[in-house]
Amino acid sequence: MSYRDYYEILGVSRNASPEEIKSAFRKLARQYHPDVNKSPNAEEKFKEINEAYGVLSDPEKRARYDRFGREGLGDVGGFHDYTVDFSDLFEELFGSFGFSTGRRARRMPHRGRDIQMEVTLTFEEAVFGVEKEIEFSRNEVCSRCGGLGAEPGTSPIRCATCQGRGEVRQIRQTFLGSVVQAITCPQCNGRGEIIHSPCQACRGTGLEHKRIRKKVQIPAGVDEGTQIRLAGEGEPGTNGGPHGSLFLVLKVLPHQFFKRRENDILLNIDINIAQATLGAEIKVPTLDGEETLKIPPGTQPGKVFVLRGKGVPYLRRTGRGDQLVIVNVEIPTKLTREQRELMEKLAATLGTSARLKEKGFLDWLSETLGGRGNEMKS
Ligand SMILES: [Zn+2]
Ligand SMILES: [Zn+2]
Repeated sequence: MSYRDYYEILGVSRNASPEEIKSAFRKLARQYHPDVNKSPNAEEKFKEINEAYGVLSDPEKRARYDRFGREGLGDVGGFHDYTVDFSDLFEELFGSFGFSTGRRARRMPHRGRDIQMEVTLTFEEAVFGVEKEIEFSRNEVCSRCGGLGAEPGTSPIRCATCQGRGEVRQIRQTFLGSVVQAITCPQCNGRGEIIHSPCQACRGTGLEHKRIRKKVQIPAGVDEGTQIRLAGEGEPGTNGGPHGSLFLVLKVLPHQFFKRRENDILLNIDINIAQATLGAEIKVPTLDGEETLKIPPGTQPGKVFVLRGKGVPYLRRTGRGDQLVIVNVEIPTKLTREQRELMEKLAATLGTSARLKEKGFLDWLSETLGGRGNEMKS
């Protein structure tokens, strides 16, 4: 397969300046642009011009091309897809009128904007659900003019500039010759009608700003960051489009003792060495009130007790998580004289040597990866 030389394609010399290359490209592009040139090989030709310009307008690619030819561009014999930034060219070709989509976009029904607001809950409200009164502002259809924007008793008249079409045609001189373009009517901003006496309440916008108070049911089991969508409670739509949605983004205040992990409740408690050694019955708080927890004799620090079904209700199914009670054994730092004597007696019976602990493989593994007990404490 043979290729034409890029310089030859653009009709410039090998030492052409970037400006010369650009101007040669523009001249050829306007000649061969497929939207303009309907001859069968125009598209092929345009691609070729595009490719040549893509390389020669890039100083680095041009240098490689000069030294090594096409092979130096790293895409040997294949299809060269060099993207040229056409935005300035198209701007020049067609202006920035967006191909007359403006009017259609204005006239089409549009869904109203969504509103987002934060709602703060206590820990218990998030767990068990609550009815909250929220207050927010949004636009509503103006009650004075019914959304027409015209003062009651008057009515909008058809725009004379666009005859009510909302757009006007304009002939622009471009380097391609005359181009007819449709633009949004500057007189009526695409509405097709003109309001001579704007509504005094909304100044012709057809909307009024309102504070809305609303009672909202927050379901049990929500958590920090949960979003609740209230369809139809957002901003009103335009041209008959539906209302947007109101999104409540939930914040949850921390609890004095409880920590939440998904649907489980974590609670840390301290017991003393006698309770840990001899066993005990202790009272622990739960979401449903106090519960008695049996500490068996010989309980080690970090032991986790599970109170089944005492956690947070699941949001989308029945049932609840668990409460996990993580037991820490408190080593006394201050002892009375009597306690000290007792402890010394105890110490004498326990001996003085430290015991080296043998570890099984699973112990190492669980410590290295962070076992359930370790994870609880974080
Ligand atoms: Zn009004
Ligand atoms: Zn108009």
